[in-house]
Amino acid sequence: MAAADLIPVNIVTGFLGSGKTTLLRRLLASPELANTAVLVNELGEVGLDHLLLRHVDESTVVLPSGCVCCALRADLTAAIRDLYSKRERGTIPRFDRLAIETTGLADPAPIIFTLLAEPVLRHHFRVGHVVTTVDAVNGARHLAQHPESVKQVAVADRVVLTKTDLAGPAQAEALRTACRRVNPAAPIFEPAVDPIGPDQLFAGDPADPSGTRQDARRWLGPVAAATPPETGVGQASAHDRDVYAFSVTVDRALDWTAFGIWLTMLLHAHGEDILRVKGLLQVVGVPTPVVIHGVQHLVHPPVHLDGWPTADRGTRLVFIVQKLPRQVIERSLAAFTRLAAVGERVV
Ligand SMILES: [Zn+2]
Repeated sequence: MAAADLIPVNIVTGFLGSGKTTLLRRLLASPELANTAVLVNELGEVGLDHLLLRHVDESTVVLPSGCVCCALRADLTAAIRDLYSKRERGTIPRFDRLAIETTGLADPAPIIFTLLAEPVLRHHFRVGHVVTTVDAVNGARHLAQHPESVKQVAVADRVVLTKTDLAGPAQAEALRTACRRVNPAAPIFEPAVDPIGPDQLFAGDPADPSGTRQDARRWLGPVAAATPPETGVGQASAHDRDVYAFSVTVDRALDWTAFGIWLTMLLHAHGEDILRVKGLLQVVGVPTPVVIHGVQHLVHPPVHLDGWPTADRGTRLVFIVQKLPRQVIERSLAAFTRLAAVGERVV
C-alpha cells in the first residue's frame, strides 16, 4: 500500500505538566484535524472533549529477546485495532489521522516500535511526526534530572516550548540551547510567541517525500555545527549532557544492500544508545537521494526523494546518541566503506 493511503499516527509526548493536553486540545479545534481520533494514556488528567477519545492502559510486553525500546505495547495494539475495525464497520466516523498522547514519563520508542512492527497496524498506519512539549519554567530541571525527559526531546521531530510567557527570556533561551544540544534536527516552536497550526507540527512527516525533502534541508544544516558536550566532573546526574548529536559524511555512493547490513549490525550492537539516526544517502545506481530515519533499534521504511535538498550530493548521517563515543560509529563506518571499496575492486 502506498504511504499516502496509510493513516498517519502522531505521538504527542512531553514531561509531566509540560502542556501536552493543552496543545493537543488547541490543535484539535482546528478544522484540518476534525477527523482525528485520539488515544490518551495519561491517568488522572482531564480528558479531551473529543468524539473519538479512547483511553489505554499501560501494558508493555517485552519480547523474549528484546529490550525496552523494542517492547510491544499490547494495550496500544488492541486499542488501535479496535478503532480501525470500528472505522471500517462505520460505527465511528472515518478518521484520517490518529494522535496518541502519552503519559508524562513515557518512552515514545515502544510506541513507535509497536506501530512499525505489528503487522496489522503496519498495514493501515504509518508513523507521523513525534511532537514533544517542553515546559520553559521546569524543562531545564527535567532535562538535567530525568532521562525520560531527555529521551522525549531526542526522539522528537518537532519540539514545542510551552509557558515561555511565564519564564524569563534568559530561562527560555537556556532551554532552547539545551533542546538544540540534545536534538539539533528538530525545529523548535513557541506558541506563546508565535501561534502554531497543525500543519507546522504534523505535515511533511517521515513517509512524505515532499515534506521530507524540505525537512532534510533543515536537519542537515544545524547538525553539522553541533559538537559533543564537554564532559567533566560533577555532571554525572545531568542526563542532557550524556546525549548529543553529530553528523558523519561519506563522499562516495553507497551500495544499498551493504549499507543496510552495516546499519542493521550497528543498531543491533548499539541501538539502545542510538536514540535517533537520520540519513540522506547517495546510493549506487539511484539518481536521487534516499532518506532513512530510525529510532533506537528501529528503522522506518526508506523514502526516495524526488531531488537533492541542497547542492551537496554526498551521503550524510546524523546521529543522536547517549553515552556512545562518536568514534565508535565513525570507525565502524570507515571500516565498512573501506570494505565496500575493496569489494568494488575485486568485482
Ligand atoms: Zn530495542
